[in-house]
Amino acid sequence: MAEREGRVEDLEVSAASGVPARSAGCLSCGDGGLVDVLSLGALPLANAYPALDDSRDEPRFPLDLALCPACGLVQLRHVVPPEAMFADYLYFSSYSASMLEHAKALAQSLVAERGLGAGSLVMEVASNDGYLLQYFAAAGVPVLGIEPAANVAVVARETRNIPTLVEWFGRDLGRRLAAEGTQADVILGLNVMAHVPDFNGFLAGLASLLKPEGVAVIEAPYVRDMVEKAEFDTIYHEHLFYFSVSAVAAAAVRHGLVVQRVERVPVHGGSLRLFLGRGASHGPTAQRLLDEEAALGLTTPAYYAGFRRAVERIRTDLTALVSRLRREGASIGGYGAAAKATILLNYCGLSARDVDFVADRSPYKQGRRIPGCGIPIVAADAIAERRPDYVVLFVWNIKDEVMRQEDAYRRAGGRFIVAVPGVRIE
Ligand code: ZN
Repeated sequence: MAEREGRVEDLEVSAASGVPARSAGCLSCGDGGLVDVLSLGALPLANAYPALDDSRDEPRFPLDLALCPACGLVQLRHVVPPEAMFADYLYFSSYSASMLEHAKALAQSLVAERGLGAGSLVMEVASNDGYLLQYFAAAGVPVLGIEPAANVAVVARETRNIPTLVEWFGRDLGRRLAAEGTQADVILGLNVMAHVPDFNGFLAGLASLLKPEGVAVIEAPYVRDMVEKAEFDTIYHEHLFYFSVSAVAAAAVRHGLVVQRVERVPVHGGSLRLFLGRGASHGPTAQRLLDEEAALGLTTPAYYAGFRRAVERIRTDLTALVSRLRREGASIGGYGAAAKATILLNYCGLSARDVDFVADRSPYKQGRRIPGCGIPIVAADAIAERRPDYVVLFVWNIKDEVMRQEDAYRRAGGRFIVAVPGVRIE
């Protein structure tokens, strides 16, 4: 059976007008029967932090989630043209200590498990500032990074000596590099596959660059964790796909790949680590999760009804709590100017009248403001210096790390407000 393939070209793209395209069909399988499962309304781009003195209104785009019952892929209904989103790239992975730990452990286990050495090649898609490849290079393994943001690639090359191509990864780049003789033992893709509109092109690129026994190691947030833990603030315009094993397996086979192995890893609120390679059938760990997903009905619209109710409950509870605390004269700050902060604040309609500032460790974000709500981003020291009565913890994914850093604030009576999976004071 010749299976259909969703194509980015099918999008009604209107990049010139800045109007997002509404998907005509599934971006994986091309099926036209997408079902809406959650609407967050029209929200600003989560990672486009305006300067403090920039008073222009940011553009807002619909942020709606849909399910393709044909292949199981959860995806955004509207695709904002990438050039509208990636012009000002402010995320440097290296700023999170727990992400570095995670990267190091992954590199060490792959080097040992696959016997990587001087004759191997490890590639990474969206290699950022070389934060992950540095650990392979340190073990004597040749590496090649692919990173579309030129300013970030320069950091990888100049400070870490990581060879890095400034390119978008996909079908064309895969073919071109393969024709030049590039073949990889391992291709890493951490938190990138969910962001690339041309999902089929991404998988085709992997397939053409892997050695016969090579493996692509992909990490992406697991839609099941998002639903079970009400992590709706991980939904933003750049994050196009919300993967399940079912959806990835269905797409992989179109490109001659299978899911050899899957692990659930506790990053970004719960992610899948998928090992894609050649083979006759999906491996036992993949099959077990496929069975679990089938039992849960993960590829049916009914599975998402409770998620929608939980998300609406968070908005009701958080706005009620914040307005009560403000009436009582409390000062409220925030921690972590991540995409999650933009989404939570804007979805709940909170602004600088409700939250005085958001503290963040990244100097690239300080002196800017949270998109859509005007809240200034300040240095992390602000928590200790200004001692707000409450701090909304937006980056619940690194909660333990933040709690350790801000131990003195808590011991002095400061309280954290956490909104996901439900609103509570800690
Ligand atoms: Zn589909």
